[in-house]
Amino acid sequence: MTAPGASNSTTGALYVVATPIGNLDDMSARALKVLRDVSLIAAEDTRHSLRLMQHFGIPTPLAACHEHNEREEGSRFITRLLAGDNVALISDAGTPLISDPGYHLVRQARAAGIQVIPVPGACALIAALSAAGLPSDRFIFEGFLPAKSVGRKARLELVKEEPRTLIFYEAPHRILECLQDMEEIFGPDRPAVLGRELTKTFETLKGLPLSELRAFVEGDSNQQRGECVVLVAGWSEPEGEDAIGAEARRVLDLLLEEMPLKRAAALAAEITGVRKNLLYQVALDKQKGV
Ligand code: SAM
Repeated sequence: MTAPGASNSTTGALYVVATPIGNLDDMSARALKVLRDVSLIAAEDTRHSLRLMQHFGIPTPLAACHEHNEREEGSRFITRLLAGDNVALISDAGTPLISDPGYHLVRQARAAGIQVIPVPGACALIAALSAAGLPSDRFIFEGFLPAKSVGRKARLELVKEEPRTLIFYEAPHRILECLQDMEEIFGPDRPAVLGRELTKTFETLKGLPLSELRAFVEGDSNQQRGECVVLVAGWSEPEGEDAIGAEARRVLDLLLEEMPLKRAAALAAEITGVRKNLLYQVALDKQKGV
């Protein structure tokens, strides 16, 4: 098989091939063709991938390429590629390199001047985002959070005021703790979506404010099984009274009883450190009954 754009080259191409995340019908026709035509498939777990290859009747040999051998063994694949063999890289599910091995091999291949060709397909974060109903024009993928609560909360703190939609992968046995920490750091009202078992029989896409989503998962042990993606709406600037905080509101209210609006806003700003214009606007809205 000749790599597109590499017809005169004697070097093989590295194909990065997405495989299904549950539903085998999501295997693309192009992925099947590439996997049949290459000389070798570099797979995260050869036993796991062998079953997939048997299902599709693909006889191509498999070789292990996982996080423990990728750096060292990568050179073996590079040697094959330089000798003219086409190689496909797959992971256990979805798109390689996305919270999966492959980064070092792709880097090594590109550094050696080997053409790297993506064969796109299923990816859990994109599947979840496409159906979650949260803003999708800008988002960030945070991968897996640390397993322990202290580390997890520290990471969540870093993205607390991130305005783009946040996407996380999480293991089922940690999903409840994860949602508890998210509720604590992001607040109970932040909209969130749990994407569970996507493309599979018990697919769930549940969208609720974080406190309700946590309660939903807590109250149903089935929701603590299977594979999950958590999406959280990005931070948005609080508006109206919420913008100034409870203490500033209390001070402003007290002063408004004693003096004119403009003076109350100025004095409340001096006392609380909150911007005068913001306090003035809140006081004005209050006066208008907004
Ligand atoms: N490379 C994969 C991809 O493209 O999405 C991700 C591999 S990562 C090791 C596995 C994690 O992806 C799971 O723990 C889960 O967070 C997410 N995931 C994979 N399949 C999923 C599915 N069918 N539904 C929901 N999440 C899934």
